[in-house]
Amino acid sequence: MRVILIGPPGAGKGTQAARIREKREIAHISTGDILRENVRNATALGIEAKSFMEAGRLVPDELIISMIKVRLSAIETAKGFILDGFPRTLRQAEALDVLLDGMSLCLDAVLLLEITDDGVVRRLSNRRVCRLCNAIYNVVTRLPMKEGVCDACGGEIIQRDDDKESVIRDRLAVYHERTAPLVEYYDGKGLLYRIDGAGQPDTAEARLESLEAAKG
Ligand code: ADP
Ligand code: ZN
Repeated sequence: MRVILIGPPGAGKGTQAARIREKREIAHISTGDILRENVRNATALGIEAKSFMEAGRLVPDELIISMIKVRLSAIETAKGFILDGFPRTLRQAEALDVLLDGMSLCLDAVLLLEITDDGVVRRLSNRRVCRLCNAIYNVVTRLPMKEGVCDACGGEIIQRDDDKESVIRDRLAVYHERTAPLVEYYDGKGLLYRIDGAGQPDTAEARLESLEAAKG
């Protein structure tokens, strides 16, 4: 399966992607994770991306598209992939179409995680992440076994700088302006499936399973 997850920040893309990957041998490509890793390692890309990310703005399309090009060509695409956090603009979506065309691949589904703006703010201000492995926690709904320490890898659990409320509002505005148009774009191609992002964290997984069953 080749799947895209879209939705506002905090809709649960990362969590859903992790569930989908648990049961399948497919690559999980999270542009946010790749960018944060580059920032941590102070690569040329990281240095360029940092100020955009801190302000809750999008990193320029050219940077993201060349980054994705490298990742897609490196993975075993035959087994499939989940794109999480990409595409986020119409230009990125069109660039992805060209890339996949060149590889003679097509998309199976675009899963849209829907959640209200207030739901996003509530969820993201409670979100915590592992500094090392990006595992996701929540101070209300998903605490680690030992306070401040990641269950999976022992890494330190932190709050992302862009999960502070003022930045969350900026990221939401960016989502509505730049990313929301993708809904129509993929709906027009018959690829869009809407999922309740405020519901159970298994919904995308379940939806995908029924799609797979339908495909045979
Ligand atoms: P979220 O979905 O929770 O906003 P991500 O981890 O996906 O967070 O992304 C964090 C930041 O990384 C974004 O706010 C943006 O600055 C940058 N980013 C990630 N993916 C993209 C993309 N496809 N295009 C442009 N910027 C991106
Ligand atoms: Zn961890």
